[in-house]
This record gives sequence, structure tokens and C-alpha cells, in this order.
Amino acid sequence: MLATSAFDIQPTTASRLAELDPNNMVFGQLFADHMLAAEYVDGAWQSARIVPYGPLQISPATSALHYGQAIFEGGKAYRQADGSVALFRPDANWQRFNVSAARMAMPEVPEELFMQGLQELLKLDAAWVPGVPGSSLYLRPFMFATDGFLGVRPSATYHFGIITCPVAAFFNQPLRVRFEQQYVRAAPGGAGYAKNAGNYGAAMLPTKLAQDQGYHQLFWTDASEHQYIEESGAMNVMFVLNGVLTTPALSTSILDGITRRSVLQLARDWGVPVEERRVSSREIIEAVQNGTLTEAFGVGTAATVAPIATIGHEGHDYSLPALAPDAFARRVGAALDAIRTGQAPDPHGWMVAVNG
Ligand SMILES: *Cc1c(COP(=O)(O)O)cnc(C)c1O
Repeated sequence: MLATSAFDIQPTTASRLAELDPNNMVFGQLFADHMLAAEYVDGAWQSARIVPYGPLQISPATSALHYGQAIFEGGKAYRQADGSVALFRPDANWQRFNVSAARMAMPEVPEELFMQGLQELLKLDAAWVPGVPGSSLYLRPFMFATDGFLGVRPSATYHFGIITCPVAAFFNQPLRVRFEQQYVRAAPGGAGYAKNAGNYGAAMLPTKLAQDQGYHQLFWTDASEHQYIEESGAMNVMFVLNGVLTTPALSTSILDGITRRSVLQLARDWGVPVEERRVSSREIIEAVQNGTLTEAFGVGTAATVAPIATIGHEGHDYSLPALAPDAFARRVGAALDAIRTGQAPDPHGWMVAVNG
């Protein structure tokens, strides 16, 4: 482990904490006082800085802007029942970050830089972790290519950063989701399993078209037959079919969600039958019609669990039954929240305390 002195820490002299209204937080708008920044130069990560949040200076030829070598992560820190602060599965974020980096021919970020960096940043900005129910401090590690060079090749230099922002409980309006059977998010052998910027840019038009039709999100389907469900927006997707928790099996075109993994683990802990396999649009529509589909929901860091109320397919809208009070989606969402806030035991060691 790096000593604290491995980070050059420059605390702010002008905290913006007074701007934080824990009862009125808009996602991604107000950032905590500090950010982490480190540069990759000459084949090595240079010592990291923790400095006041602020703009970065880059060349107009910065290769990330032109060719898209840019990746990110998303995690959360939670105020604990005892007042301390803890992170949910940051090691999983670190590992996935490096999976994304490898796919984009970017350098890996060492564990010490990522994990100790989060620790040092969170120690400094602990007061930014809100305590109102359902709220958290969203963590956004990111890396992009910084060569000011227009040749198409992997950059020699990179910027790694971590910024954070307080977020409110996600308002779970029942989602209207439509099958997308024209546009494709990712194809086998592509980069769908990486959290790289281009995946999200390319998803914006199809998502906007669905939103113009009154849907919140899409079910992305496979690139060749447009039949098999991949995921929904920036969430993995799960169904309860005949009492079996069913979710598309992972592939190179599906993002390996940490919430997905955690929900599957809790289901297995509880003895709920689980299947990871191919799920077709036809199977889902038939199951809605014959009543064997009892729950459909997205799972991801932003919402944890987002119940789906309506599914659009080939111009028809299919309504799902209202979620029962003891529905799996509700129980697993509540169980995850209880683990994350220290109100329930953490048998899998998911929480990492910030050592104030
Ligand atoms: C981040 C993301 C998810 C969910 O991953 P979590 O680790 O659970 O937040 C699912 N799909 C896509 C495309 C994503 O970007």
C-alpha cells in the first residue's frame, strides 16, 4: 500500500459545501470539493494529486476527443448507520476499470492508485456524503487519452481522475421500456462489455427516439437476430419467470454489472432459483400474456432496482402486473440498501470502510 504521502494533497481554501442541499440534489450537477488526478507519462503513472475540483487543460488535438480512448466507472459511498462512510464493492469497480482499459488499449491503473486514491479523496470530502435515506456520494473514476496528436494509434499519455457528486434516492417511476430491434448497442467481439465513452454516445439517438415515443428506455437486443435481450439502457435486466430469477447470460456485448452480480448473489443466498441464459423478446411477450412473467426490472448503480411496468414490442404495449409488496425486486432492493448503509450484516464483505 502506498503511504498517504504518495498523494500530493492540496486541500481547498474555498469549500462549496454550503451549496449542498441534501433535500434537493440533482444527479451530476454539484461536485464535491476535491478531485483526484494522475498522469500516465513515459510508460508509468506519475504521483497522484488531490486538488480542488476544477477544469482540466487539454490540447484541441487530445486523442480521446477524436478517437474515443475514454473509459469510466460508477460507484457509490454511503453514510453508515454509525455515522461513518463506506464504499460498496470499489474493488469490483477497479477490476472492471482495468478490463475496460485493456479492451481500449489503455494502461491499467494500479490497485493502490484507484483504491487508496478513493480513500484519500473520501477522507477529505467525507462531509459530502449525504445522510438522507436513499442518498449517497456517486463516485466517477475515469481515464482518457491525452496525446495532442492526430495519428490514429493508442495514445502514449493518459489522464486518470476521480470526481464525486452527492446524489438523492433514485425516484423509481414505473418504467416504460421498448424492445429495440433496429439499432444495436454492441455486437459480439465489440466493446459492449467495456465502460467506454463511445458506447454511450452511440446509444443516445436510439434512446431519444424511444423517449420521443413515450418510453423511458430500450431493451437492447442481439446484433444478428434482434431477438435476444442484452440489457436496458445503462442497466442490466432481470425477469421473474415462473418463479425463476432469469437474466441474460454475460457475453462480450453485455456490461458485467456489479449490481447484477450482487442481486444474483443475494438470490442464491436466499435459495431463489436463478438462470443466466438467452432470453428472447418472444418468450417475454408470451410470458406477459400468459401471466408467468411476474416481475421485470433493471439493475444498476444509479437506481439499484428499477421496476418495469410496461413493455413495448412491435407497436404494442404490454402491461405487467403491479409489483406485490413481497416481490423479489422490492426485497432485494431493500436488502442491498440495508447492507450499503450498515443496517444489515455484510456476509460477502462488500463494504469497504473509509478510514477517517
Ligand atoms: C454501468 C452499466 C451497467 C450497470 O453496472 P453496475 O455496475 O451495476 O452499475 C449496466 N449496463 C451498462 C451498459 C452500464 O454502463
